[in-house]
Amino acid sequence: MRALCWFGKNDVRVMNVPDPKIINPRDAIIKITTTAICGSDLHLYNGYIPTMEKGDIMGHEFMGEVVEIGKEVKNLQKGDRVVVPFTIACGNCFFCKRDLWSLCDNSNPKAKIAEALYGFSPSGLFGYSHMTGGYAGGQAEYVRVPFADVGHLKIPESLSDEQTLFLSDIFPTGYMAAENCDIQPGDTIAIWGCGPVGQFAIKSAFLLGAERVIAIDQVPERLQMAQVECKAEIIDFSKVDVFEQLKEMTGGLGPDACIDAVGLEAHGTTPDALYDRAKAAMFLATDRPHALRQAIQACRKGGTVSIPGVYGGLLDKLPMGAAFNKGLTFKMGQTHVHRYLKPLLSRIEKGEIDPSFVITHRLSLNDAPDGYEVFKKKQDTCIKIVLKP
Ligand SMILES: [Zn+2]
Ligand SMILES: [Zn+2]
Repeated sequence: MRALCWFGKNDVRVMNVPDPKIINPRDAIIKITTTAICGSDLHLYNGYIPTMEKGDIMGHEFMGEVVEIGKEVKNLQKGDRVVVPFTIACGNCFFCKRDLWSLCDNSNPKAKIAEALYGFSPSGLFGYSHMTGGYAGGQAEYVRVPFADVGHLKIPESLSDEQTLFLSDIFPTGYMAAENCDIQPGDTIAIWGCGPVGQFAIKSAFLLGAERVIAIDQVPERLQMAQVECKAEIIDFSKVDVFEQLKEMTGGLGPDACIDAVGLEAHGTTPDALYDRAKAAMFLATDRPHALRQAIQACRKGGTVSIPGVYGGLLDKLPMGAAFNKGLTFKMGQTHVHRYLKPLLSRIEKGEIDPSFVITHRLSLNDAPDGYEVFKKKQDTCIKIVLKP
């Protein structure tokens, strides 16, 4: 089959690779009908995530048709159309039973690597380095899905691939980020980053009852989507002082909750952002947490900082004094996607949201290497790319 493989920083290639096979009785093989490039794939493309190996197949947002099933998968049939969550979970362990699917204890066969870094290992992930299992991803013609009996959502014929694909990651990720803000009536939520997850976080914050959402970015088309499509108020951080602007817009109080939908590769213009760039360039720091620092600083006293943006390593100069003295609550983590599949599908079916609004580019899998370049450089007003094998 054809698959998009990682070969190093800024180097991904479409290759012919062996077809995936059923290995375990709870596996299924999915023929991919639509897949997508995620902002977090850029962290791999940019060489920020360790333990990638040459030839690894990328991609963790995909859907398709079941073409083979292991003998213990009783709730799927050949021909079923499914979306697959990017987190791999067994459904039976301590964590899965507590609805903490991205922390599954049984789905990362290479847990030792993550344990050395983090103490304990998170779940396995599709196409996201060997630290999270080394699983082949879904930017390919076919993919093997482990624990397919719990890791799937059947999609009704009435909904298109583009309307449902993002249940695999970015819609639940934006939604969990908003849910983590514990939104109360009248709340104002500020969101750093108007990439796809940021856009879904804006829509989700409104779905969950926020009165106002303020979105922060510097890319004109992303700010425009946040404003026009998602109904957020916007701040262009390249033009104004974000802290002062947020304070002014919230009557001097600060936002009730702040969402960092940027993660470890933040761009900024303030001294701390330049410091991060320099330190990362000298390999003295792994992550550039400028957006997170600003979110902590801007959040109102007693507020919540919710972090869907990906962090991988050690963070420098985090204002813990501000966080402590303002009594902030922090919530974060990889999305417990399984938890959100059915509730969010139901919101799509009811017409409360059509996730396809975020798509700006449709490419064939063969053109994926160009897609990565365009997406990385935010060229051609690119916000979200879907790929067809
Ligand atoms: Zn993703
Ligand atoms: Zn589990």
